[in-house]
Amino acid sequence: MEIPDASLILEARGLSLSYGARIAVEGVTLELRRGEVLGFLGPNGAGKSTTMRMLTGNLRPDSGTVSLCGIDLWKDPLKAKARLGYLPETPPLYRDMKVDDYLKFAMKLHRAMQDSLPDIKEKCGLQDAGSRLIGSLSKGYQQRVGIAQAILHNPDVIILDEPTSGLDPNQIREIRALIREIGNRCGVILSTHILSEVESLCDRVEILHHGKQVYKGSLEGSRHAVEVGFKHPPSIDELSSIHGISKVEALSDGLFILRHEEKQNPTEALVALAADKGWGLTRIAPSRGSLEAVFAELTREGS
Ligand code: ADP
Repeated sequence: MEIPDASLILEARGLSLSYGARIAVEGVTLELRRGEVLGFLGPNGAGKSTTMRMLTGNLRPDSGTVSLCGIDLWKDPLKAKARLGYLPETPPLYRDMKVDDYLKFAMKLHRAMQDSLPDIKEKCGLQDAGSRLIGSLSKGYQQRVGIAQAILHNPDVIILDEPTSGLDPNQIREIRALIREIGNRCGVILSTHILSEVESLCDRVEILHHGKQVYKGSLEGSRHAVEVGFKHPPSIDELSSIHGISKVEALSDGLFILRHEEKQNPTEALVALAADKGWGLTRIAPSRGSLEAVFAELTREGS
C-alpha cells in the first residue's frame, strides 16, 4: 500500500472516550513522524493510558480516528497493527516462560522471522538471558523483554506506557538509551509523568490534563538554556546583548533563564561580565526550567 506521507507514521484525530459518565479523554489529536520520540506527559489520571490504549486498538474511542502509515486502525486492524509495537503499563510477560521461548512465541504471534531473534536480543541487551525464567529476572530485565516483544516484528510505531516506572536509576538510564536508539529508526510515543524523562529522551512533548491536550511543543528550546541568579541583577537588555544569548526570560528574585544556540553556550562570557560589572552571580546551572514551569502552570489543580 502506498503511504500518503512517508514520514508521517501515526495520525490520530479527535479521540474521545468516556467511562460511563466520566470523560477520560476529549478530542486528542496527534501526529508522529519517523525518527521522532514523542513524550506524552501528564499527572496521574490525566488520560495517558486511555489514549495509548486507543492508539493501539485496545480500546475503541467514542469518536475519532487513528491511522498508522496511512492504514485506518478500525477499518483494517490487522494490517494497521502489524505496523505497531506496544508495551502496556503492565508488560504482557509470562513469568514461567524462559526469555527465548517467550520471544519465539511472540514472534509466531506477529508472524515475524525467527532468525532475527539473536538480533533483537542483542539490541535489547538480552544476549545472556535467553535461558532465564522471566519471573527470575530483575524488573529492568523484564522491561527489556517487554520492549523486545514490542519491536520484534520491526514495527514503524512503538508505543510505550510508562516504560521506566518502578526501575532503579541504572535501569532507567539503560532503558532510556534503548528507547532513544529505537526512536532513531522508527517513531516512539511514550507516556510518563516524569519531566526529566521527557527532557532527556523526547523531541516533542504533549501535555495532557483532565483528558485534554493543554500543551504541544518542541523541546529544542529547553535543552539549550542556562538558569542564572544575581545579587544585583542587570537589565534584560544587558543580558540580551551578551554574545550567544538568543532570549532572556525573567523569573523572580533576580533569576533568569537564558536561551542560547546549541553551539554558543554563553556561560564563560557571562561569568566574566558578571564579575566585571559586580552583578554578584549567585547561581548558574543548565536550565530544566521551562518545561517544569509549563507543566506546573498547566496542570495545577483547578486549572
Ligand atoms: P493516566 O494514564 O494519565 O494516569 P488514565 O487513562 O489511566 O490516566 O485514566 C484517565 C481517567 O479515566 C482517570 O480519571 C481514571 O480514573 C479513569 N479510568 C481509567 N480507566 C478506567 C476504567 N477502566 N473505568 C473507569 N474509569 C477509568
